Amino acid sequence: MAAGAKIARMPRPILATIHTQTLRHNLARVRAAVPDARVWGVVKANAYGHGIERVFEGLRGADGFALLDLAEAERVRALGWRGPILLLEGAFEPRDLELCSRLNLWHVVHCDEQIDMLATHKTHQPHRVFLKMNSGMNRLGFAPQRYRTAWTRLNALPQVDEISLMTHFSDADGPRGIAHQVAAFAHATQDLPGERSLSNSAAALRHAPGANVRGEGGEVRVAADWVRPGIAIYGSAPDYPEHSAVHWGLKGAMTLASRLIGVQQLQPGDTVGYGSSFTADAPLRIGIVACGYADGYPRHCTTGTPVLVGGVRTRLVGRVSMDMITVDLSPAPEAGMGSEVTLWGQASSGAVLSIDEVAHAAGTVGYELMCALAPRVPVVVEA
Ligand SMILES: *Cc1c(COP(=O)(O)O)cnc(C)c1O
Repeated sequence: MAAGAKIARMPRPILATIHTQTLRHNLARVRAAVPDARVWGVVKANAYGHGIERVFEGLRGADGFALLDLAEAERVRALGWRGPILLLEGAFEPRDLELCSRLNLWHVVHCDEQIDMLATHKTHQPHRVFLKMNSGMNRLGFAPQRYRTAWTRLNALPQVDEISLMTHFSDADGPRGIAHQVAAFAHATQDLPGERSLSNSAAALRHAPGANVRGEGGEVRVAADWVRPGIAIYGSAPDYPEHSAVHWGLKGAMTLASRLIGVQQLQPGDTVGYGSSFTADAPLRIGIVACGYADGYPRHCTTGTPVLVGGVRTRLVGRVSMDMITVDLSPAPEAGMGSEVTLWGQASSGAVLSIDEVAHAAGTVGYELMCALAPRVPVVVEA
């Protein structure tokens, strides 16, 4: 062996897999729900934890990429993407606009300070901007009664090319719905020219099909011009548990898998893990899985959280620790050392465990779990 050569080591058995074909499938599902709209693939937060470079092949059929970190925009351009890129929070400081000019980034304008920055920006190439209205979310954007003034101010700037009109829904996934925000948007944008962008995943799936929502100011197409799906393209239901990914025809684009690295035989009265939160009331075989909260598996999951062992559905028992979890092997008597464990996603048998179910057991949403996949977990891309 050459001096200094390293001996290849088997890594710890945890592995995340990104499914390229599944990303294509999910994108197609969203397109089918909003056939007349153009689709931003939302790849903020490093493509919801999947990795921008890893999802690019699966999502290159999108009409553009939406994100908010300028370094991520540079990464998308570095992949050779020459189509639209939208910065969802716009510029944070004046020099960000230089990058927008250089990389031809479209950007949101949500406040007067961003208009001020544009007014003093030197560019040969006017920018395409998305003027954001706060139609009720009360996060970013101009209040409806101030929107037209902002539009007029922007429209007068030589630095600005086309102005698109945009808002974001707070309750597209829930019982309150979007009608009140659509009404505010319709009223305030009446007669303003420009393309519209309203819908996230939940709005695109739940409200867009066939829906032209009437507001006081006229009609607004919820699926107008540009939709902005994120979570749906990664295969998680935006409105779980009301609907599942299966209901929407979506499939998880990320699998988190590991293996059993230990087995214990419990007797009645034996407890498992930190805090002894689980006590066996009968003899019980448990498996020890190489996956813990330092891998991104949520520590809030408690006994009963679903897990697949060898493709067979079973449950977590006891507390999640940093590097390990413990699972009930009674539904999987064949399982032993080295057996495949699926934390979420697809087992090699084809069995599926939705990330939404695991998130729900932890009192959170699929978004948080995928975004929190830890850097120490190796990731492979499956073509
Ligand atoms: C994150 C984000 C989206 C995507 O939302 P999903 O619920 O993941 O579809 C759309 N629009 C804006 C402004 C966002 O910040």
